[in-house]
Amino acid sequence: MSEPYQSPISPGRSWYEDSVPDRPRHPRLEGSVQADVLVVGGGFTGLSAALHLAASGVRVVLLEAARLGDGASGRNGGQFGTGHRVWPEDLEASLGLERSRRLFALAEEAKAHLHEMMATHGIDADYRPGQISLVHKRRYVDEFRRHAAILRDRYDYPHAAFMDRAETAERLGSPAYHAGVRDTGTGHLHPMKLLVGTARAAAAAGARLFEETPVRAVRREGGHIVAETPFGTVTADRALLATNGHGGGLNRQSAAHVMPIRSFIGATEPLAEPARVLPGNEAADDSRFVVRYFRKSVDGRLLFGGREAYSSSAGDIAGQIRRQIADVYPHLADVAITHAWGGSVAVTMTRMPYVAEPEPGLTTIGGFSGHGVLLSHFTGRLYAERVAGNRDRLAEFEDLRIPSFPGGTALRKPLLFLAMTWFALRDRL
Ligand SMILES: Cc1cc2nc3c(=O)[nH]c(=O)nc-3n(C[C@H](O)[C@H](O)[C@H](O)COP(=O)(O)OP(=O)(O)OC[C@H]3O[C@@H](n4cnc5c(N)ncnc54)[C@H](O)[C@@H]3O)c2cc1C
Repeated sequence: MSEPYQSPISPGRSWYEDSVPDRPRHPRLEGSVQADVLVVGGGFTGLSAALHLAASGVRVVLLEAARLGDGASGRNGGQFGTGHRVWPEDLEASLGLERSRRLFALAEEAKAHLHEMMATHGIDADYRPGQISLVHKRRYVDEFRRHAAILRDRYDYPHAAFMDRAETAERLGSPAYHAGVRDTGTGHLHPMKLLVGTARAAAAAGARLFEETPVRAVRREGGHIVAETPFGTVTADRALLATNGHGGGLNRQSAAHVMPIRSFIGATEPLAEPARVLPGNEAADDSRFVVRYFRKSVDGRLLFGGREAYSSSAGDIAGQIRRQIADVYPHLADVAITHAWGGSVAVTMTRMPYVAEPEPGLTTIGGFSGHGVLLSHFTGRLYAERVAGNRDRLAEFEDLRIPSFPGGTALRKPLLFLAMTWFALRDRL
């Protein structure tokens, strides 16, 4: 029997890989290929762009360095959330109320788009409604109460409601948090099922998808863009770099604005008493800067994520995750963890996505800062709209003018490590 596949770009084998019914292989690129649009990166952003481009008759080639879904898209917490990584009231300070409202509306459209896309292409990704955001420090309680009211009153979003300590404990199955906000207008899903379904839909629409084909350089030749790989080249009129936290070497400008940080998830065995944990089957995340996020799978496992400066070995991840689970659910202190894995979350300075055109015809999209399950698919579609001649909606993101990280590419990692260590400490104080 052959060894189970292990992603060369992300540590640990995920429970998602073992529970997706089938994950088709795609060939390597061979020789020289022409396209209208080249997409680099086979995550949600790249595959969604490929799907929508191909569906509108554009000749599209997608190159993926590892296998489709080996990046963040096949390995994440599966939580949609609402709006952006930054609360809309916090965006108002820098962007004003009207722009913040437009961005919120765009994120709501992203939600509707995902549901419509899954329905159109018959993708069953185990979607379940409900999300609760938890307050880990008493001093944040009033902020969360205000946040639910602001969503309702200023953003016409009636689905989020503040929960006091007693209601939070009941819905969570644990007294570990002070309060929370329950959002019935969003939900969570199995990301690898969504990814495989999107890839299948893109291929059916005519996109040519290649795996295990790393792009080593992207250069201009005449009026075209040429991507070089170890096995051949792609020559295209335009290119989209959808490499997120994995593609630092391809474009300096993108690398200066988008930084990878590791996040880790553990999956327990199916719980003996699943109704004791999140009895309403919502997903949960908390108010820590180094956020903890968890939910149950449809077969009753607890999928628990956190992000710290762990080593990348799967054994270490399981031990750390088990300790975090026990903080919330002491009765699970000895639960068996069957899978432990990590991935790269790409963050930006402002925690808003980075969309830019560093040179004519070359677009880069990434840095969803832990909020890409909702936004990356839709942004891929907005890129296809831009290729078709409508720039306006992608421009909402492009006009955000995200600053680059201080310290350049050499110093920013140690600086980030220091910052994360400080914030992780602050979470505990
Ligand atoms: C552990 C974890 C938990 C997360 N949880 C959540 C969550 O609950 N909710 C949420 O909203 N977001 C979450 N995220 C973030 C979310 O997964 C991402 O925002 C989203 O998947 C980004 O999709 P993408 O297509 O832009 O990037 P990716 O899925 O990372 O895809 C980029 C792809 O580009 C490929 N690539 C890179 N360089 C090259 C090259 N030179 N040539 C060819 N291919 C290349 C990579 O191999 C990779 O497959 C999480 C991320 C992680 C890692």
